[in-house]
Order: sequence, then C-alpha cells, then structure tokens
Amino acid sequence: MPKVYNFGAGPAKLPEEIYDIIKNELTNYEGTGISLLETSHRSSTYLKLNAEVQDVVRRLMDVPANYKILFMPAGGQGEFAAVPLNLMSRTGTADYVVTGAWSEKAAKEAKKYGKVNLVVPPTNRYTDIPGQSTWNLDPNASYVHICTNETIHGVEFHDIPDTKGVPLVADMSSNFMSKKVDVSKFGVIYGGAQKNIGTSGVALVIVREDLLSNPMPVCPSVLDWTQANKNDSILNTPPMFAIYIMGRVLQWIERKGGLDAMAVAATKKSSLIYDIIEKSNGFYYAPVAKHVRSKMNIPFRIGSSEGNDALEKEFLKGAEARGLIQLKGHRSVGGIRASTYNAVTIEEVETLAQYMKEFLAKHS
Ligand code: PMP
Repeated sequence: MPKVYNFGAGPAKLPEEIYDIIKNELTNYEGTGISLLETSHRSSTYLKLNAEVQDVVRRLMDVPANYKILFMPAGGQGEFAAVPLNLMSRTGTADYVVTGAWSEKAAKEAKKYGKVNLVVPPTNRYTDIPGQSTWNLDPNASYVHICTNETIHGVEFHDIPDTKGVPLVADMSSNFMSKKVDVSKFGVIYGGAQKNIGTSGVALVIVREDLLSNPMPVCPSVLDWTQANKNDSILNTPPMFAIYIMGRVLQWIERKGGLDAMAVAATKKSSLIYDIIEKSNGFYYAPVAKHVRSKMNIPFRIGSSEGNDALEKEFLKGAEARGLIQLKGHRSVGGIRASTYNAVTIEEVETLAQYMKEFLAKHS
C-alpha cells in the first residue's frame, strides 16, 4: 500500500515505531503466554504496567510529589463532568474561560452541577484569547477552567494564566506532552489520550492532592478522583489496553528526547504550514490571531476568509490522491484542518507543505 499521511485531529496518528512493539506483545504479554487483553486487572502483570505508566508520566512532565496521576474512564468529556463533580463543592461556583468549542462544552456540562461564571464575553467566532486583564475572574470560584488547546478552532494558550490562588484546571486533550509545562501552576491537568498520548477510552488526570477528598455527594464512583486515587486507578476494570498504549507512546516520547524535543518539532512542523499560509497573498487564510495559533491543529480556509467551497473540495480531493488524509475541517467550522501532533513527522508535514505550494501555484 502506498504511504498514507494521517493529519487527523483524533483519534490521531500513533508513532509508527510502537506498532512493532504492540504486535510482538499482543498475544504474549511480557512472557505470560496470554494477551494483556485477557489479563486480570488485579494481576501482578497489570499492577506493574499501571505503575510503569504512572512513572513515565511523572518523569516526562516532572510531576511534583504532591500531585496524583490517575487513569480515568470516559475520555475527555467524562472529565468535563468529573471536574465539577470533584471540585465544585468548595464554593458551588466555577470560572470557565471559553475560547472554543471544547471549553464551551465543558462549561455547559459544569452548569449541571453548580453556578458557572463565564470569564470572557461569549462569542461564536473563536479566533483569539482576550487578554487576561479583561477577564472577569471570581475570587470565590472553586476553580478556573481553561482548554489549553482548542482542537476545532486551533486556539492555543502559549502562557499559563495567573488565577490569583484559585486552582487552575486545564483540559490538555490536544496538546498534552507537546511541550514542558510547569505542573505546579495547575490544580488539575486532564485530557483524553487519543491525540498526542495514545488512543481513546482513557483520560489522564494529574491532580494536586489537596484538591481531593471533597467530591459532590452525587459524584459517580467511577468519576470520583478521590476513590480513583485510593484504588490506584483500579476501582473497577480500567481501560487497560488504552492505558498500555499510552505507556508505549510515552516511552517513545522519552526515547525521542522528551517534551523539549516534542516542542522543538511542534514549532518546526506548524511553522512550515503557517509560513505557507502567510506568504500566499490571502489564497490560504488562517483565522486565528498569530499570538494564539495552535502548534497542534491548524485550521485554514482556501480562496477567501470564508472559504471557497469548490477550491476546498478540490484541495481535499487532490490531497487524498497523494495519500494526505483526514484534512477536512471539523463539520462545525468547515475548511481544512491539519493536525501536527507528536507522532506526525517533519517529513510528513513537508509533504503536505509541498502539496500546498503546488496547489497555490496551480491557482495563481
Ligand atoms: N477536549 C478537547 C480539547 C478535545 O479535543 C476533545 C475531543 N476531540 C475532548 C475534550 C473530548 O474528548 P473525548 O472524545 O475523549 O470525550
């Protein structure tokens, strides 16, 4: 089969190197003679893996000792509910900084469990993050929630906001482990694994331990971080295979030089695409303000700022013919979106860049 270049937003490309490892381990996991898929979650085999994956998260992100690492079911959106259910009882209200479709969804979910204060004015065109001096933060909030990278709109926080002592909670689903972050600046970091750190079915949660122990009484046990922590993320049968894949992906990141190496690559890859857009005299159009452009998800239009339907269709058709796939923008915004996560190589992005240049030349 000819090479396929996967620019999908998620579930996204996994590092090619881990497939040989997975194939080798699939039917005989670590010499047990059986697959991990048919192994007890209470076995010493699984307990060892559970500890190993926690350890690699701690090493890669330099997670301080007073933070707990949890593997939770129900993906990113499971945590949209888990965040208020675990944190809202402190004051009954929470601050949400809505900067795109995913933080909007998170805020909507939180409203089921308490009062939500929208920190920035509502908008339906997410192309910027209003400056922090304009934010309407509530000092009485139980927490402040941000989405550090909006997967659909391509808006990324490049600096960590100062929430004046109120715990900062961050959805990092689509830029997890793409750069170093100072974990001590956050109360909670969470994200679904299926973009940068594995496959779907598990959320990685990193929580400061003083934020545990006070869930809302209605919090379902399977979403309860305090119970997850007490049970080492094995309260019920965890999504073991997804946790295993996360472990193999994180070990790959470590072998590649860790988060600093991922960050250098992310800058290089995203710059290649943004540079072509900038130099195209408006043929390609990136809607997001430069200072908050995502290094993971690059949405753009072709032909005009609103997009030219025929040109965009032609672009996608030509891309597919070359094996450049999953470039269609999210159905809610249209256009094109290139996702350049950790596993997407520089050579793959260069191939897309070359195609963009040729398409531009053909139409100008
Ligand atoms: N947050 C962000 C930033 C996302 O991109 C996504 C999924 N695309 C989610 C949350 C929801 O994740 P899940 O589908 O695992 O519930």
